[in-house]
Amino acid sequence: MMQASISEVFCSVQGEGPYVGYRQAFVRFTGCNLNCNYCDTPVEVTNVCRYEAVPGSNVFLDIENPLLPARVGEMVNSYPRLHSVSLTGGEPLLCAEFISSLITDAPLYLESNMTLPRMAKKIKDKISYVSGDVKLLPHSLLEDPELHLDRTIECFRILKATKARDCFCKIVVTKDTPVDEIEGVVGAISGYISSLILQPVTQKDMQPEPGCLLKLQKSFLNDVNTRIIPQTHKMWGCL
Ligand code: SF4
Repeated sequence: MMQASISEVFCSVQGEGPYVGYRQAFVRFTGCNLNCNYCDTPVEVTNVCRYEAVPGSNVFLDIENPLLPARVGEMVNSYPRLHSVSLTGGEPLLCAEFISSLITDAPLYLESNMTLPRMAKKIKDKISYVSGDVKLLPHSLLEDPELHLDRTIECFRILKATKARDCFCKIVVTKDTPVDEIEGVVGAISGYISSLILQPVTQKDMQPEPGCLLKLQKSFLNDVNTRIIPQTHKMWGCL
């Protein structure tokens, strides 16, 4: 049975995008296939998983890694009244086989960098919500920028919004985001998503001018419901 190295399991509320404020369990996977310049998440494999046994207590137990899907399912299912279970990271699609075997009472909400289409195929029928990023990174951080965008578009096609699954796109915008690339990729995925979220990066010294975001929003509104929503959980010190 597939095991995974999980850095933390805790209960909180979603801090980003259209489901902001909904109560969720968070399962944070270790490891990532990208190296974003604004990444604020430790992605290293850890020996122990920090588990918040009592939801909202901010008190954590150390549970030895790696973990079986059944164990993580038990941890998550101990939290009552969840809207959904956020699979986050790192990059959760690196653990697609683990996710295939994960059974939770609440529906699964995938937060992904959308660059691993073969993995996305393996779990598409298990996922009820897709918060899919388009990572528009400086080209110096990507081995093959064209392939990166092709894979992104393919992931959105595989995980697209259906009657059984919501899929929306989130783009973190920094002052260095190659804005000209956004239009091409949004045009290619607009038929697959329910909305587009432009999220100004949280780090103050990397933030774009507000006018730049408003201009982008205006240019997309004809094609897709486009909203500007910053990260909210950090505003009130929530996990
Ligand atoms: S995809 Fe997410 S976890 Fe991975 S480097 Fe980028 S921001 Fe960090």
